[in-house]
This record gives sequence, C-alpha cells and structure tokens, in this order.
Amino acid sequence: MTATELINPATEEVLRTVEHVDVAGVDDAVARAKSAQRRWARLAPAERAAALRAFAAVVDAHVGELAALEVANSGHPIGSAEWEAGNVRDVLQYYAASPERLSGNQIPVAGGIDVTFNEPLGVVGVITPWNFPMVIAMWGIAPALAAGNAVLVKPAEWTPLSTIRLGELAVEAGLEPDLLQVLPGRGSVVGERFVTHPDVRKVVFTGSTEVGKKVMAGAAARVKRVTLELGGKSANIVFADCDLARAAATAPGGVFDNAGQDCCARSRILVQRSVYDRFMELLEPAVKGVVVGDPASRDTDMGPLVSRPHWEKVASYVPEGTPVAFRGSAPTGPGFWFPPTVLTPQRTDRTVTEEIFGPVVTVLPFDDEGDAIGLANHTEYGLSGSIWTDDLSRALRVSRAVESGNLSVNSHSSVRYSTPFGGFKQSGLGRELGPDAPLHFTETKNVFIAVNDLEGEA
Ligand code: NAD
Repeated sequence: MTATELINPATEEVLRTVEHVDVAGVDDAVARAKSAQRRWARLAPAERAAALRAFAAVVDAHVGELAALEVANSGHPIGSAEWEAGNVRDVLQYYAASPERLSGNQIPVAGGIDVTFNEPLGVVGVITPWNFPMVIAMWGIAPALAAGNAVLVKPAEWTPLSTIRLGELAVEAGLEPDLLQVLPGRGSVVGERFVTHPDVRKVVFTGSTEVGKKVMAGAAARVKRVTLELGGKSANIVFADCDLARAAATAPGGVFDNAGQDCCARSRILVQRSVYDRFMELLEPAVKGVVVGDPASRDTDMGPLVSRPHWEKVASYVPEGTPVAFRGSAPTGPGFWFPPTVLTPQRTDRTVTEEIFGPVVTVLPFDDEGDAIGLANHTEYGLSGSIWTDDLSRALRVSRAVESGNLSVNSHSSVRYSTPFGGFKQSGLGRELGPDAPLHFTETKNVFIAVNDLEGEA
C-alpha cells in the first residue's frame, strides 16, 4: 500500500498522510458501485432529485470546513476557497432539477409510436487535477448522479482532502455509501484502472493534454466514452478602442487568479501596438498591487504554488538573468512562493507557446484585427480567452474567429455552471456544465411500439 504525505504549500508543514487505493481496491469499488447504481436508477426521479438537494444542503452547512481544507491542502486564498465550496453546493442544486427533466422524445412515425429514453451509463469514473479539486470533481459528479449513474472519483495525489470530505458529506446527506466513492491513489494505478475496467462506462478526465491523450487511447481500445478537459494557453486581446484602464486593471486577475494554476488563465496578453506603451504603464501598478501571502488572510489575492515540483517547473521558465518587464512581490521563507511576473519575449519564445500553469504572463504587441486573431489562434490549445473592445461588431467578429470554447468580452469570466464549458483543439473533447451535461452521462435508447389498426372500422 503506497501513500502520499500531504504538505501545506504555504508553510511546507506535513498535513497528513493519505493511503492509496490499489487495483484490487478499485475493482471492489466498481463492483459495489455497479450494484448501488441499479438501486439508484430504480428510485423515482423526484426521490433522486430530493437526494441531490439534501446533498447540496449538507455541503452548504460545511462550506467553511471545505474551504479551510482547500486553504491548507492547496494554498488557495480563503475567499476563493469559500467561492469554490459554494460552487460545489450550487452545482448540486442546479443538477438536482435534472432527474425530473430527462424527458426523452416522442417522435412521429408510421404504424405506432416512437419514444426515446435517456438511460444511465452505469458506473462513471472521474479523474481530477490538483488545481481546483472539489469544484472540478463536482462538475462530473452532479450531472452523472442526476442522470442515474454511480460515480467513482480519483482526486489528484497532492490535493485529495476536500474531495474525500465531499464523499463523507454525501453519506451524511443520505446517499448510499457505494454510490459515490472517492478513491485516492496514483494516476497510473487508480486512474488507469478506470480506463481499463470494463464496468466503468465513461471516464471524465481533467488534467494535462499529455495524460489526456493516454486516457483517450486507452478508452478507444474499449470504445469507452470520455470527456477531456485539458490544458490551455489563452489570449487576452486588448484593442486600442477599449476601456484601457479597466483592461489593464483586470488583466492580473485574468491570469494570476489561483497563482496562474488555472486552465483558463489568460497567460498571453496581446495588445494593439498603438496603445501598447500606455497599457504597460497601467499594467505595472496593477501587477505590483497583487497581494501575495498567507492564504488564510482575507487580504490575500494570491497564495503559493501547490508543491515544490510544480514550483520548480514554473521557475524553469524564468531562469536567473531572464529579462523581466516587471514583477510583483512574494513572501520569502518556507512555502512555494512565486511573484506575479510579466515578460515581453519574442512571439516564438517557449513562454509564449507552452502552458506554464503559474503566475507568469507574456505581453505581445499586435498590428490589426487579423494579426490579433492569427496570434490568438497560433497555439495547439483553445480553451478560453478575453476580448477587450468597445466596438460591438469587432467583439462579435473576433469572438467568432478565435478558436476557443469559452470567450468573454470586456471581462474575464470563464465558467458558470449554467453554461457549457470545454475546449477546442487540444484543450479537450466534449463539454461539461450547462443544461445538457446530464445527457452526456446517458445513452439514448429508441423504442418503437407498433399500434394495430382497429379492424372493421373505417
Ligand atoms: P495531470 O494530467 O498530471 O493529472 C491529472 C489527473 O490524472 C491526476 O489525478 C493524476 O493522478 C491522473 N493521472 C496521471 N496519470 C494517469 C494515467 N496514466 N491514467 C489516468 N489518470 C492519470 O494534470 P495536473 O498536473 O494534475 O493538472 C494540471 C493540468 O490540468 C494542466 O494542464 C491544466 O491546464 C489542466 N486542467 C484543465 C482544466 C480544464 O477544464 N480544461 C481544468 C483544470 C486543469
């Protein structure tokens, strides 16, 4: 039995040790989930809806506790962690309405009637990354349960605590223990077993593009359904005709939120050349104003990076002697601290092309709308992005031209649980959230019922 020693990223103190589940443990969990799923799917839709509402209510009563776990385990600032726990509750509440609305179709045909049923898949495996542990877990759990499935969750090795607690809260709310099981462990053991086990009918994977490709290849061998939410290198495009002061003031939040460990981080700022110098003058105080420090303090905007290995990866993009346009400050001493950093490299530099997943942003000038679109699309990713302009036609033209799943105009909003979320190109496959998410956890069954003509009547 292996285990992970969890480290508080702000203090480097050991929090606790979490034991890993092995392959036999996964197989046992799948068998139990399979039988719990049958009982769950047999409940009346209104009973499943009530159970999800009860789960949401128990989460609501534990928002503070869940947030505190994320502060300690992931280093998220307390305000962000509370938002995350609230989002978990809201996502459950939103999908609690779904069991009674998965209505299928009645389709006009000759000789009878034709109806479709949205049948649950069975057991669903959810594999999550370390950057937004409980939120990303719930984006898979809630719609999958709503559609009548059982769910197994494998949290990331470094950050399992809030997800483990969610599993306990589900039981407190009255869900049967085998219906939602949290299985901490290694990706190469628990994650891979989700992919290879014949009774896991779908894998929802959020993580790196590299591992996502492996998951997809493994799933292909079994014609297993997958949703993939992968990496990003999103553009924040600032046109000369926008409210430049607002664009500059909000740009740090668009990339340094969660210390840049956000798949939607706007990590490439593209600025029209005619306002580039002015934008940089406005950006500098905004970056220097980002408060980096103790995540438990309500004054903190940005906490530490999640772990020492991740800190080393981020730091490798800014080695000693790298020309830095300007940067903010960060605490010294224990903790995986990294200051918000602004670079102005060439278009071909690896800081412009690779996902850094830390508080490092590149700023590049562009000449006109065509150049901006070309630059924004010059990446294998296509997850998110922002467009700053006061010209409505331009906002729409550019929104349609940028190859990305989630764009926002004059803001940096990416994810709302009531709207679909997912990536173009190598940022992913399929969509989460929004009204259709439960359908992605069902198979459509078509049933034709012949109706005999009444003999002897005209
Ligand atoms: P990762 O790919 O290293 O790990 C993600 C999860 O996959 C972990 O739970 C890990 O244990 C598991 N895993 C590892 N190897 C596996 C295997 N062979 N089979 C099955 N599972 C395996 O990613 P990470 O470092 O935890 O997260 C950072 C990445 O996640 C970034 O690239 C980021 O952009 C991406 N991300 C994407 C979204 C999105 O919605 N598009 C959201 C958050 C994070």
